Amino acid sequence: MDKKEIKILITEEEIQHKIKELADKLNAKYKGEKVYLICVLKGAVMFAVDLAKRLNIPLSMEFIRLSSYGSAMASSGLVNAVDISLPNLNDKNVIIVEDIVDTGLTAKFLMDFINANFKTKSTVFCSLLDKKSTRKVDIEPDYYCFDVDDKFIVGYGLDLDQQYRNLPYLGYIE
Ligand code: 5GP
Repeated sequence: MDKKEIKILITEEEIQHKIKELADKLNAKYKGEKVYLICVLKGAVMFAVDLAKRLNIPLSMEFIRLSSYGSAMASSGLVNAVDISLPNLNDKNVIIVEDIVDTGLTAKFLMDFINANFKTKSTVFCSLLDKKSTRKVDIEPDYYCFDVDDKFIVGYGLDLDQQYRNLPYLGYIE
């Protein structure tokens, strides 16, 4: 693949600052309570790990893997559950951690999946990025760190054809 030019959108420092703010809110909300953090692989891996390191509540980390069919830079709107095995989440506090809410179909799929299979104590959806202008279903993350415009974002877990996930910042490809 040709090497693409990546423009920096959000620096490593800005990301870490926002994650600390989010962790402070979650630590206050769940003080003394156990939480199940569900990381949606692969894109949310960096965000989930950095967030988890700042949470000072009793925490279990679970990992599920989804993919959406389609071309590298356009979601088809079909969600493919590659591995969605989870423990019993009845009566548990659940935080779903995702990289980006774009059309909203993945977020809706996950919330519907959790609600259909478990009676949780609480479920919140937490996304690093919110791309509001491309939404196709009526869903908003309960928490998010940054609003982004309709650009293709890479870095800090987000990929283009499995590349660029290791960048410590968020950038976009023109
Ligand atoms: P949805 O359209 O269902 O809200 O998002 C589906 C998935 O598409 C996201 O979890 C993410 O993996 C991927 N996605 C959406 N927008 C972008 C983007 O700008 N960059 C990258 N790398 N992936 C995206």
